Order: sequence, then C-alpha cells, then structure tokens
Amino acid sequence: MINFNVPPFTGKEFEYMREAVENQKICGDGPFTKKCSEWIEEHTGTAKCLLTTSCTHATELAALLADIREGDEVILPSYTFVSTADAFVLRGATAVFVDIRPDTMNIDADLIEDAVTERTRVIAPVHYAGVGCEMDKIMEIAKRHGLMVVEDAAQGIMASYKGKPLGTIGDFGCFSFHETKNVSMGEGGALLIRDEKYIEKAEIFREKGTDRSKYFRGQVDKYRWQDYGSSYLPSDMNAAYLYAQLELADKITQARMDRWQEYRELLAPLAEEGRIELPHIPAECTHNAHMFYIKTKDMEERGRLIDFLKQREILSVFHYVPLHSAPAGRRYGRFHGEDRYTTKESERLLRLPLYYGLTADQTEHIADQVKAFYRQ
Ligand SMILES: *Cc1c(COP(=O)(O)O)cnc(C)c1O
Repeated sequence: MINFNVPPFTGKEFEYMREAVENQKICGDGPFTKKCSEWIEEHTGTAKCLLTTSCTHATELAALLADIREGDEVILPSYTFVSTADAFVLRGATAVFVDIRPDTMNIDADLIEDAVTERTRVIAPVHYAGVGCEMDKIMEIAKRHGLMVVEDAAQGIMASYKGKPLGTIGDFGCFSFHETKNVSMGEGGALLIRDEKYIEKAEIFREKGTDRSKYFRGQVDKYRWQDYGSSYLPSDMNAAYLYAQLELADKITQARMDRWQEYRELLAPLAEEGRIELPHIPAECTHNAHMFYIKTKDMEERGRLIDFLKQREILSVFHYVPLHSAPAGRRYGRFHGEDRYTTKESERLLRLPLYYGLTADQTEHIADQVKAFYRQ
C-alpha cells in the first residue's frame, strides 16, 4: 500500500527529543524552540519568528495583532483550509471570499480590489501547494486601502516569490509544521513578523497576556499580566523534532522536488493529449514541492480514478470543499463576485502521494497506474 502521506522523519529527531528531556526543559521556549526560531529568522530574513502550537494559532495571533473586531471584513479565497477563515471569524470578522485563478488555485489578485469595502481590514492570501500568490499586486492593493496582509504560508516553507521567502512579504506570515507539511513537529506552526513594532505585543499575546518572554530574557524582574492573550507555545520536545527537520530542510525539499519533477515528466503525455491538467508554476515563483496534483475532467471521473488507484493500493485524495459552501462559511462569510473557478476546479483536483521517503520507483508506478486508468 502506498499511503498518501507519511510524516517526515530524518533520523536525528529522537536524539534531539532525548536531549530536550535531559535538558529538563520540556515546556515552551526552551533551547530547541530558540534554535528553531533562529533558524527560521536566518533562512527567511523575517524580523521575528515565534514558534506556535499550530498554523491556526499563528493566524489567531496575527488576527489579534491586526486588532480584528466584530464587523470587520477579511478577504480570502474560499478554496482553503478552515483555519484561514477561523482565526478571523473567531474575533467577530466576516469572511469575504474571492474567486481563485484556475492555474495555481490561488486567490485571483485582480478580483480583490472589487471586494474591498470600508469594513475591510485584512487580505489573507493562501500560497496553495507552496506556490506564491501575486504578492506585488496584493501588497499594492493593501497599501492603497490601508489594509494589513496576513499570508497563510502553511504550505510555504522553503518557497519564494520573486526571491522573497513566502511568509515574509505581508505584515504577518503563518507556517504550519503539521505532520502533512514538508517539515514537521507533529502539530505546530510559526508566526513571522515583518515589522519589529509588533514583536512585544505578539510575545504578550502568545504568553497568556504576560511579559514572561521579557522576564526570561532578564529584561524585567517579575512578569505580570499585561493584556489579554492565550497560550500558543509548543513544548520544547516538539521543537526538538522540528529542529532535526529544519537542519535537513534542503535535503527534504530536494527529495520532494525530485519526485514532483518525475510525476510531471511521466504524466506530461496525458496532459498533452488533453486527458488531465498539471500544476502551473509562475515564472516568479520558486515552489517547494509541497503537493503534486492533477486535474481530471470532472468530479465523477475523479471519483473513478480514486477508486481505480485504491484497488491498486495507492491512496490519492481530493482537497478542500470550498468554505463558502459549508455551513459555517454561509453563516460567517459571503462570496464576492462570481464563483467561476472555486467550485469547479476544486471538484477536479486530485492529489497524488508525495512525501519524504517516497521513491522514484514508487512515483513511476503511481504515474503508470494513472496512465493505465486513462488507457483502459
Ligand atoms: C495545514 C494548513 C493550515 C493549518 O495548519 P495547522 O498547523 O494544522 O493549524 C492552514 N492553512 C493551510 C493552507 C494549510 O495547508
């Protein structure tokens, strides 16, 4: 059986987790959390990285920092994971969904400005599959209307747009280290802060509303309750797992890229015959092979292909059900403009197995089976 995903494991994780236990520091903000944050700061150039318990929580922190209130509006794609909307809806905002581009499945930047109202506060682009959104256009619209930009870069580590790492372009960027992501700690995430002026506030929100971060650095002699907040620190044991992965992030990314490229080449003939469509990577984007998907003719064909592969012990999966069609999406959001591509393209998209450790032989075998389906 070829699983759709296998959590990444490189070999050094146990050693580092053991070290965390031996350090007698298994709560948050221990030595491994520090190492991970510094690694991310160095490799992305962000002013500050705060490790969090998830990307969902990183996005909640961003919503707190953006001071989102009841009645505010956030512009985002409907084709995304629930967290992109949840973090803002939790603060009382309305989700305003905009259609996607069919070639990248990212928000169509040309449709954003029309959705801006006097209540709009944030644009939250999602870099689907680690392929960057049109950030120049998005930042320009945000600037013109005085909006903040929160990048959902959950899938975006090690990927860039015009040479800028995803997650560092907007005011805030959110990474995920869930077990399905390229580098992982089981559950976890990070908030990237572009502007230093938000660091102190972010540390307070993340530490239950206290200035404990300052206290740990010896900057105050006791810590006190300063503001509202919550607990967004991951255990240092989880950070130890992540650090082993970050050290090998280039290797992990390269291995995924190799498989991605093989899929693309092996399936190109089917695309040339017009049987399927393959992902498009815009010239200004360096992606990270987070995902390899194909698009079938329609949902019915996709269902048959999933079954066909399953019978051959290959697990393939579809992805997001558009948020605007879900019960909470109807309650807390609205779709602005026409849904030309969101629903239609989401029904055709199928993800093939891709994980660290998948072999070239397996990739070839999977591609052969996809071809067999279309040749039958
Ligand atoms: C995985 C993912 C999330 C959520 O990440 P968690 O770390 O599980 O909270 C949010 N947005 C997108 C686009 C994702 O892929």
